[in-house]
Amino acid sequence: MKTEDIMQETDEYVLHTYNRFPVAFDRGEGVHLYDTDGKEYLDFAAGIAVFGLGYGNREYNDALKDQIDRIIHTSNLYYNVPMAEAARKVVQSCGMSKVFFTNSGTEAIEGAIKAARKYAWLRDGSSDHEIIAMKHSFHGRSLGALSVTGNTSYQEPFKPLIGGIRFAEFNNLKSVEENISSKTCAVIMETVQGEGGIYPAEREFLRGVRKLCDEHDMLLILDEIQCGMGRTGSLWAWQEYGVQPDIMTCAKALGCGVPVGCFVLNEKAAARSLVPGDHGSTYGGNPLATRAVSTVFDLFEKNHIVDHVKELTPYLEQKLDELVAKHDFLAARRGRGFMQGLVVTGRLVGEIIGNALKHGLVVISAGSDVIRLVPPLIIEKEDIDEMIRRLEASF
Ligand SMILES: *Cc1c(COP(=O)(O)O)cnc(C)c1O
Repeated sequence: MKTEDIMQETDEYVLHTYNRFPVAFDRGEGVHLYDTDGKEYLDFAAGIAVFGLGYGNREYNDALKDQIDRIIHTSNLYYNVPMAEAARKVVQSCGMSKVFFTNSGTEAIEGAIKAARKYAWLRDGSSDHEIIAMKHSFHGRSLGALSVTGNTSYQEPFKPLIGGIRFAEFNNLKSVEENISSKTCAVIMETVQGEGGIYPAEREFLRGVRKLCDEHDMLLILDEIQCGMGRTGSLWAWQEYGVQPDIMTCAKALGCGVPVGCFVLNEKAAARSLVPGDHGSTYGGNPLATRAVSTVFDLFEKNHIVDHVKELTPYLEQKLDELVAKHDFLAARRGRGFMQGLVVTGRLVGEIIGNALKHGLVVISAGSDVIRLVPPLIIEKEDIDEMIRRLEASF
């Protein structure tokens, strides 16, 4: 099929909720993608921070093929090997207590919200609890997750959303404090805001919120759907802050391409929240998805993926900082590890990104004015150099 035909057929039959770039990717290899015309691209988007291991990892592909031939789905009414193994690896990786597997990030947020509300309901028996969320946050598109997403243009057409949500200023502890009431059951935030424009939480802010949560018996929900799984140079971004969440959400790179997410609870939240009958999912954590998770954890360990991100981050940051110094329309660099943003002024980000595709570089946007770089976690120095060359060419 030619690209124009693919575009035409897609646009004829698929509901138009995305303005797609005129490219159809056909296959991938390592950090490179190839479109249906055979053109090569360097991928610094990883399918929106998903494909951490890069494309065509032999061991990953073989594990999934083996699982497909064995069994793909059984439902949550029975036990299976991949779920047991994936659950142990997830829980041990963060020193928490219990995990629930979902099919996406937004579902992980739904589960986290339900767990927090149930925790508070068990605490005081009332059912009008509040959650404090952050402005400029992004937590997903289902109604609960949308309700805690601090972006009014995403929310407006779909009101009424779930009630009891208050929005505080990110990185402003006083603003969080002012929004606390006797009904507050949780504070939810991304450890590093992604879609909103790549804003890392400041150390004192996150530590302060943790302290407020302890003082007021509120649960701290950290959304690591984008910034987790090694992206910031530690397996979980919060591990760099010396705090622990009560509930953590993860998705995107958790299965490195297979649709899977999870929410993880510490002992306190697990012991006093969801019980049989409270929550469920037909597919959630099915053998194919959890085999992917389990394999991803094995390969991260075997290939020292997190150490690699940590080691290469200074080089990536240096190269991006040089770019910012050189080009007036680049106002700043923000980010952590392999989750970086370049702030653009006076030019359209969408245009730069479209140009980059023409020059064989895949990058994406965040917010309205940020070029977002979230490459596969296996990139090397040469890939960074090549990315800089192609990005400059597209300026
Ligand atoms: C992508 C994302 C989500 C939503 O995940 P989906 O799998 O698209 O539902 C939620 N939170 C954050 C921080 C994300 O980056």
